[in-house]
Amino acid sequence: MTLAAVLERAKELGANERQRSRLARAWLSGGELATVAATMREKLSRRVLAALPEFELDLARAARVASIHPGADDATRLLIELADGATVETVLLPRNALCVSSQIGCAVGCRFCKTGEGGLARNLEVDEILVQVVLARRVRAVDRVVFMGMGEPAHNLGNVLATIERLGQDGEFAHKRLVFSTVGDGRVFERLNEARVRPALALSLHSADDAKRAELLPRAPRVPVRELVELADAYARAVTWPVLYQWTLLDGVNDSDADLEGAIELLSGRRGILNVIGWNAVEGFPFRRTPRERAIAWVRALKRAGVLATLRDSAGQDVDGGCGQLRSRRLAETAG
Ligand code: SF4
Repeated sequence: MTLAAVLERAKELGANERQRSRLARAWLSGGELATVAATMREKLSRRVLAALPEFELDLARAARVASIHPGADDATRLLIELADGATVETVLLPRNALCVSSQIGCAVGCRFCKTGEGGLARNLEVDEILVQVVLARRVRAVDRVVFMGMGEPAHNLGNVLATIERLGQDGEFAHKRLVFSTVGDGRVFERLNEARVRPALALSLHSADDAKRAELLPRAPRVPVRELVELADAYARAVTWPVLYQWTLLDGVNDSDADLEGAIELLSGRRGILNVIGWNAVEGFPFRRTPRERAIAWVRALKRAGVLATLRDSAGQDVDGGCGQLRSRRLAETAG
């Protein structure tokens, strides 16, 4: 049963709106409904109290942690098994952040991404995304959620925005601590502008050149990168928090001086920060990680030109690398 169905059942049993919201908060915090109910100032009716163990069991059926993979860099990967046996990856990141998946597989097919290699299997339901937060909070504190795991959130827009709304309203997350990440799609900006909970935005660039970007992200919508940055910038000014632009550096592919100049020209004067990301090596892929000195030089040059930039090593590098790798290893193991 989904969280929405449990809350509907609680309503039928007499729980008022405030009590239902408290139950949702209890589940999303990673806590137990019965324990939280005992601390509620406004007591639940006997009928609701009697149903709590059943609600707990229904919610627990959504997913379980199949395995935990701690890394040396304070990132911990969780492989989560959903009710139908499908698996998704969720990564606990340093500083109480969590990276969640929104799909099983992904249709964008970025050339450097293991998840993109296998195409899309299916979208995740709202509860299948929420449960990643719940299970992660049972491992350690989480106060920031980034939708940068497996999948393209724009391709599962309704469910991702409903998840963000629930987390913003009942999950005790500041709205700017929820980060919607996308390769860019016109519908995203329309819907984000109308949303009740407006998250921060991350936009994956990887190149300032449309032709090169189309090669690297073969099935991303063909919206000129300049237009995407205009839309993202307008959104950032409306919500008042900056866009996180993403650029995965690939040695000899998108890390030349010309690429750097393109990035500077594209982002000068924008309300945003460029995350320069070290690529997580994937066995069998025809790319190399840009040497660290070059990545540092990029960040310095960007800053000198007035573009805010940070160097981000992909967390979890030592625990089966980038997104999709734990899952594909598990699939190979079960197939073998
Ligand atoms: S990097 Fe993201 S958008 Fe690209 S294929 Fe992988 S999961 Fe999809």
